[in-house]
Amino acid sequence: MDQVIIFDTTLRDGEQSPGASMNVAEKLRLATQLERLGVDAMEAGFPAASKGDFEAVKLIAEKIQNVQVTALARTSKEDIDLAWGAIKDAAQPRIHVFLATSDIHMKHKLKMSRDQVVETAVEMVGYAKSFIGNVEFSAEDGSRSDWDFLCRVFGAAIEAGATTVNLPDTVGYAMPDEFGQLISYVRQHTPNIHRAVLSVHCHNDLGLATANTLAGLRAGARQAEVTINGIGERAGNTSLEEVVMGLYTRKDHMDLTTSINTKEIFPLSRLVSMVTGIVVQPNKAIVGANAFAHEAGIHQDGVLKHRMTYEIMEAQTIGLSSNRLVLGKHSGRHAFKNKLEDLGYDLTREELNRLFEKFKELADKKKEILDEDIEALMAEEILRVPDVYQLDYLNVVGGTGAVPTATVKLKIKGEVVQSAGFGVGPIDAAFNTIAKMIETRSKLLRFSVNSISGGMDAQGEVTVRLQENGLIALGKGSDSDIITASAKAYVNGLNRLEYMKTNPSVKPEEITP
Ligand SMILES: [Zn+2]
Repeated sequence: MDQVIIFDTTLRDGEQSPGASMNVAEKLRLATQLERLGVDAMEAGFPAASKGDFEAVKLIAEKIQNVQVTALARTSKEDIDLAWGAIKDAAQPRIHVFLATSDIHMKHKLKMSRDQVVETAVEMVGYAKSFIGNVEFSAEDGSRSDWDFLCRVFGAAIEAGATTVNLPDTVGYAMPDEFGQLISYVRQHTPNIHRAVLSVHCHNDLGLATANTLAGLRAGARQAEVTINGIGERAGNTSLEEVVMGLYTRKDHMDLTTSINTKEIFPLSRLVSMVTGIVVQPNKAIVGANAFAHEAGIHQDGVLKHRMTYEIMEAQTIGLSSNRLVLGKHSGRHAFKNKLEDLGYDLTREELNRLFEKFKELADKKKEILDEDIEALMAEEILRVPDVYQLDYLNVVGGTGAVPTATVKLKIKGEVVQSAGFGVGPIDAAFNTIAKMIETRSKLLRFSVNSISGGMDAQGEVTVRLQENGLIALGKGSDSDIITASAKAYVNGLNRLEYMKTNPSVKPEEITP
């Protein structure tokens, strides 16, 4: 069986989802988990987009050993210099250069002729090649490009040294049979195509990203560009878990394999949702809350009689097991430390002490501490620090007959500030008070609550969506107390807005292969 190269772009294309920006600690954490998952390549970011992006890519490149760490660049020497500067210390670096090849993009966006596009692609692939052997070239808006022109560009890019050529369905326009035919056509009409890996990169605007990706692989593409939970701009990218489990479950038909350790899929899906604040829809394939829940009575009966009647996959395969080792009130420091190591965390002594204290507090309120709870603690206590605003203390009084009142203590840039305020409900009172203290001009667009695990004592997980001057930030907070979780989410969202204001980034529409 042939192996498909899994190229994860959660940290680059995924991060372009509105509000999904992550800080450096969060990105490093995701990168470490992606390495555990076994992806072949990860796109760590777009170093030319901002200083913050450059730093994040550089740190990931220094840390990750077993994955090709990729940096994105437009076809300019400045971009390629920055990309190389960020990844030069990686164990396996790759530079990814892109240029649009569709008539509509060349005419209206690039204002370049076909010949100029070929010339630029050749020149810039060659320039990237002067630093490094591993160079990918993407033909942006490839699926809407003239087929013969696409073959010409790919042929020239490979001649200039590209080792991977990527055919993106940038706007999510392709149909599966058509996309498969395009891949076949490119393979037949690009004479040197065997010297490079042919890659696909699809978007989900018509809900066809996975279908198109699989059609591309059937037709001979051997790299799939994907994101965890399918996050990405607009309707998102192709979801990693759907492609990987599609190949795994239907290897009889697809005859292709991957290097992914599928048991890491579910934990990573949870982590991505936690750090980005983008909740997975319950009916999402593979990782949605209902994906393995057989609720209808008839199905349950069938599943009990013979699993294969209704289940095509086992929940354990994606790491959703029912017999997990749980921690509780009496778990000691050693067990806790082991658990963290199991989850792939490598903490300093000081971080471990801090987290253990929070773990004990939680274990006093909640009987069983699951992996999800520990990931949530980790996100709250370790990954989000240092922040500009920190919630230090919250006391809310409410109930029938009382005016909901909140007393809040915040650390603002290290200094403790205290205030109190009212609201129409307890959460509103807490938000009003925090907003007044921070003097924010942001608007709360959305507020939602989920429970992290099942059971009456489950921790609540709150997501808020804030907007200020065209910037959108998601904030997330979890706690066994829903009002505290809400306040944490609000403060987290305000921190993210602050981060976005101080780290201005290139507009997403300029960087969408
Ligand atoms: Zn994309």
